[in-house]
Amino acid sequence: MRTPRHSVIGLVVLALLLVACSTPAAQGTPAATAGPADLQAAEASPVAQLAASGTDTASGPATNIPLKDALGSLEPKDVFQNFYDITQIPRPSGTMDQIRAFLVNFGQGLGLETMVDEAGNVLIRRPAAAGMENRQGVVLQAHMDMVAQAADGKAFDPNTDPIQAFVNGDYVVADGTTLGADDGSGIAMIMAVLQSKTLQSGPLEALFTVDEESTMSGADGLKGDLLQGTILINLDSEDEGVFTIGSAGGEHVNIVSSYPQVAAPADMPSYLVKVQGLTGGHSGLHINLGRGHAIKLLVRLLKGAVEPYGLRLASIAGGTAVNAIPREASALVFLPDTQVEAFSAYVRAYEATIQSELAAVEPDLSVELAAVQPPAQVMDERFQAVLIDALYANPQGVVRMSDAVPGLVETSNNLGIVNVQDGQMQVICFSRSSVGSALEDISQMIACTWELAGYTTEVTDSFAAWTPNASSPILSLMKATYLDLFGQEPGIMAVHAGLECGSISGKYPDMDMISIGPTLAGVHSLQESLFIPSVGKVMALLYEVLQRIPEK
Ligand SMILES: [Zn+2]
Repeated sequence: MRTPRHSVIGLVVLALLLVACSTPAAQGTPAATAGPADLQAAEASPVAQLAASGTDTASGPATNIPLKDALGSLEPKDVFQNFYDITQIPRPSGTMDQIRAFLVNFGQGLGLETMVDEAGNVLIRRPAAAGMENRQGVVLQAHMDMVAQAADGKAFDPNTDPIQAFVNGDYVVADGTTLGADDGSGIAMIMAVLQSKTLQSGPLEALFTVDEESTMSGADGLKGDLLQGTILINLDSEDEGVFTIGSAGGEHVNIVSSYPQVAAPADMPSYLVKVQGLTGGHSGLHINLGRGHAIKLLVRLLKGAVEPYGLRLASIAGGTAVNAIPREASALVFLPDTQVEAFSAYVRAYEATIQSELAAVEPDLSVELAAVQPPAQVMDERFQAVLIDALYANPQGVVRMSDAVPGLVETSNNLGIVNVQDGQMQVICFSRSSVGSALEDISQMIACTWELAGYTTEVTDSFAAWTPNASSPILSLMKATYLDLFGQEPGIMAVHAGLECGSISGKYPDMDMISIGPTLAGVHSLQESLFIPSVGKVMALLYEVLQRIPEK
């Protein structure tokens, strides 16, 4: 998935088990527009120890066998053949022509209705088997692109070179590049369904989307009248036996304005105050971990220094990406000569206070104070006061936890970027919620804060929520089928970040959706691997569910 993870969906850490007795979540009003590929987290995926633990089994240390040479011994054969074929097609985000042509050719070769939509997505329709025309239509969906990474020094052009995949024990791995099992495994499985000569099912549609890992333009650009099915099974999750049933919607809330400056006080020395050494993290997936927020910590320091020490603020900046929790923030300040020593002691004491407050989560937090060349101007004193108060009051962090999925963050805000210097103010928040109306609420909370300060906010980059629905019929069918096939209950999770399903639900609010997939580790990294035995289980589940889909 997009993930940051795209596919951070694999982060079972973040997953929350849906309790059997939980009530259906309120249906949110999905926003209509696009979403950024949001799971590209600020931090590397925590690669499971899966690869390490699975390779040295009874057969001893495994060696790499080229995937092509291993195809005869891998099951399901058709899926792995398809997966190999996909590895031969360069498909980094933004380079979609070759994989699109491959899939169009594939669909036409099977004699199936095949089309490319305005967004560049491929849709292939497989008609119902005889006597099954009245079954509900199912859309099977995966994304065509991959995050293409290569090791330093590796001669690899992601736009022209195939992925060199190998089988190592129970895993498919790559050599010095990402593998592209995210989401090549999803494509390969859907192709196998389309090819199947034995599957008896109702009408199926295969939707292959473009650029999930970058702009999500495929899901965002999908038209609301293209799909005929009423059930969507997304094949972009990363943990076999764990179903994903929800994702957050989100939007950016921007405050942009000029502001008044005055000449810097001639008789005061200037200093850079910097809060640094924080852990940061993804603004959705890690927002509930209590990590320090560099901008908020700096603003708190400034608020306590204006009155006692006569501090004047020239500029403040923090945050590098709106979907990351800021790790550093700094301010250029002026202080009267007579107050420098007292201010310095205040900074040391403040540092000790916040180091104590955040000792468990921010061991490397520090506050630095350094003399610098004085800038020519400072903020107008009235603006300085209003800015500090507005940043102090701006909502930050978790606002509400989900009732439908215990442990899931329902609504949050991240004050992602603050850049106030040279007479220009830019503040950007990233608000998220799995409930559409709650997203409007947090957005309004931020707007009210800045209205009090005399500024207006603008909302951009909206993307829709996929609100968890504990009474989803496809969830019930999947759970029952999983139990029948494998004798155990699957896990259920939702993520506090954007997924393609959210965007699709914005266009198809009544679509009953679920996301599944084989077990992947290390997606988007050079350690990406696909756990071979999990593929057969997902296919068995998929085939059985497709045969059990009820009538309309
Ligand atoms: Zn993916």
